[in-house]
Amino acid sequence: MAKPGNKLVIFDLDETLIHARTAQLDRPADINIAPLHIYVRPFASDLISRAAQRFTVAIWSAGSPRYVEVISEHLLAAKVEPLFVWDRERCSKKSSFFSFSEIFTKDLTMVEEFGFGLESVLIIEDDPVKIADFKDNAIIVRQYLGEAEDSELERLSSYFDAIDAVSDIRDLDKNLWCFEKGK
Ligand SMILES: [Mg+2]
Repeated sequence: MAKPGNKLVIFDLDETLIHARTAQLDRPADINIAPLHIYVRPFASDLISRAAQRFTVAIWSAGSPRYVEVISEHLLAAKVEPLFVWDRERCSKKSSFFSFSEIFTKDLTMVEEFGFGLESVLIIEDDPVKIADFKDNAIIVRQYLGEAEDSELERLSSYFDAIDAVSDIRDLDKNLWCFEKGK
């Protein structure tokens, strides 16, 4: 259960911490789950480890169970114990009007089972559609597409003080983050 004042930081995987593709880039992948070549974003493991020193951490991906399990094992340092590692089965299914396909969204109220109210929950995501009903609980990072050089996550770790300082995550100035990105 949540400790008083503690915050939960949830990490998305695809295009936030990793990039999976069927065709290999010009360098070997960090993880291979045939037929996928998976590239880990620079600083991804360090970011989770640093977050775990100050916050409760968790992983929530819309990927399949086995995929999420293998990647999480790779990313999580031995001393880091996530509150949960959730996959597609914990996502909500919605029909996409535009693509006529199903999309998976993340209902952040589901973490209430661990004693975390929305005032204490932050999700690090690349896809606003996944958390459309919880925009105030999200930091949207630039999509990661396998680049060897990328400083997005290292810069995000410098934002931890601001996350720590607010009593309600929904009051966190997310515009400041966008502004810093120069976008
Ligand atoms: Mg994603």
